[in-house]
Amino acid sequence: MESQNIRIAVQKSGRLSEESLKLFKACGIKFESGGSKLKTVSSNFPIEFLFLRDDDIPGYVEDGVADLGVIGENVLMEHIRQVDVVKELGFSKCRLSLAIPRNEEYSGIEYFQGKNIATSYPNLTNAFLAKQGIKVTTHEISGSVEIAPSIGLAEAICDIVSTGGTLLSNGLKEVATVFQSQAVLIANQQLSTEKQAILAKLLFRIDSVQRGQNAKYVVLNAKESDLEKIKSLLPGMKAPSVMPLAETGWVSIHSVISENDFWDIIEALREAGAQGILVLPIEKMIL
Ligand code: ATP
Ligand code: MG
Repeated sequence: MESQNIRIAVQKSGRLSEESLKLFKACGIKFESGGSKLKTVSSNFPIEFLFLRDDDIPGYVEDGVADLGVIGENVLMEHIRQVDVVKELGFSKCRLSLAIPRNEEYSGIEYFQGKNIATSYPNLTNAFLAKQGIKVTTHEISGSVEIAPSIGLAEAICDIVSTGGTLLSNGLKEVATVFQSQAVLIANQQLSTEKQAILAKLLFRIDSVQRGQNAKYVVLNAKESDLEKIKSLLPGMKAPSVMPLAETGWVSIHSVISENDFWDIIEALREAGAQGILVLPIEKMIL
């Protein structure tokens, strides 16, 4: 009998795997992970996980071996695949950057004209430079790209950077950003109606988790006379809730604020007379 489970490919171990598993667990999906298991079925959601090398994930999703996959945009964009990107996941953020030996003077993108560049991303590198009229020779290598200049393999590199620490310790400096990347959820383009329905449920849960991660629940006390001023600072999901305190003339105000402007709002609230401010994480937020 054809299984109605949706099949998702995630990285077995590496910089995508931990956050991927955390996200699906936060969505309330129960499954076993870790160890040498290559496949596992959830006990409470119609989903089956395949644990793979990240490079293989886009191809498996294109071919339909997996219905869904979690992959870095950098890997996805390097090899054009016929898959749909259904959700930006906001983790494993990094950038693909050009770097040159630290003691070289960098004059601008023209610096790269005619140079040899070592990279695991020849297509993205060539496309980025060609758009600016720069022609280079790329040498594709699959790992330890940052040692290429010091062993004489190339004059520059194009590699994934997050903090820049690896570049620094290899005597390189980052001079241009080719591509900003994050993890995305991809889907096969011919999902059955049943699988599309499971995907819709999964996306609904991911949205709720992401909204919760971007928001905080705030509880504070204030004098009734300061209420209007404080209310104007707090959006809340509809409007803030206001409850009387046991002490006359005082109220408790509950609201939801976005992580982005969190500190600005907290400071403004204090200035407006808010006291005893509590900030709580939100697990899920359903609109
Ligand atoms: P695999 O063994 O599965 O092929 P890998 O060695 O190719 O793994 P990782 O180093 O685990 O890959 O990186 C996986 C993805 O995580 C990268 O393609 C990129 O999207 C992202 N990534 C890479 N480096 C970082 C970093 N320093 N910080 C955050 N995300 C990163
Ligand atoms: Mg890989």
